Amino acid sequence: MPNSIKLYVAVSSCLTGEKVRHDATSKTSTAVLALSNSFGLLKFCPEMLMGLGTPRETISLQQQSGAWQIIGNESAHNYTHLADIALAEIDKIFGDKRIVAFVMKSRSPSCALGTYPPPQDKVARDGLIAERLRLKFPSALFVDEQQLENDVAFAEFVHTLKHES
Ligand code: SF4
Repeated sequence: MPNSIKLYVAVSSCLTGEKVRHDATSKTSTAVLALSNSFGLLKFCPEMLMGLGTPRETISLQQQSGAWQIIGNESAHNYTHLADIALAEIDKIFGDKRIVAFVMKSRSPSCALGTYPPPQDKVARDGLIAERLRLKFPSALFVDEQQLENDVAFAEFVHTLKHES
C-alpha cells in the first residue's frame, strides 16, 4: 500500500470527547483517541446529524408495523425519517476517504453493534444507523469502544488495519 494513501477510522464522536450525548456529556475513550496516532479519525454523531440537538430526549428502537422505528422516550414522537438525513450527512463527512474501520459506541440505539437492548425485546441488536453503515461498508472492520479497552486487542486492531487494508 503506498504511504500516500491515508487510512481513516470513522468513530462515534462522543467517544472522542465531544459533548454530543443526550445529556450534553461525552464518553471519551482513551483507546479511540490513541487511534489518531495511526489513522485519520472521522467523527460523526448520528443523533446530532438527525438535528435532534443536545441536550435532547432519549430515544429507543421499537418495532411497529414490522419495522424498527426510532421513538422519543418522552414525546413518543417517531423520528425514523431522520435516519436518512443523518446518513446523507455522514456521507458528506466521509467524502471519498478510505475508511477501513468503524469504532461505535456500545448500547446506543443509533451506534451500537449488537449491544443495544430494545425495551420490548430480550435480544440485543445493532443501533439503527450502525446497521445501515454495516450494509454500506461491508469490507470495513466494525468494533465498539469496549472491544478496544484491552491493550492486546487494541494492538491487534491497529496491526490488522495497517497490514490488511
Ligand atoms: S452514541 Fe452515537 S448517537 Fe449517541 S451521542 Fe454517541 S455518537 Fe451520538
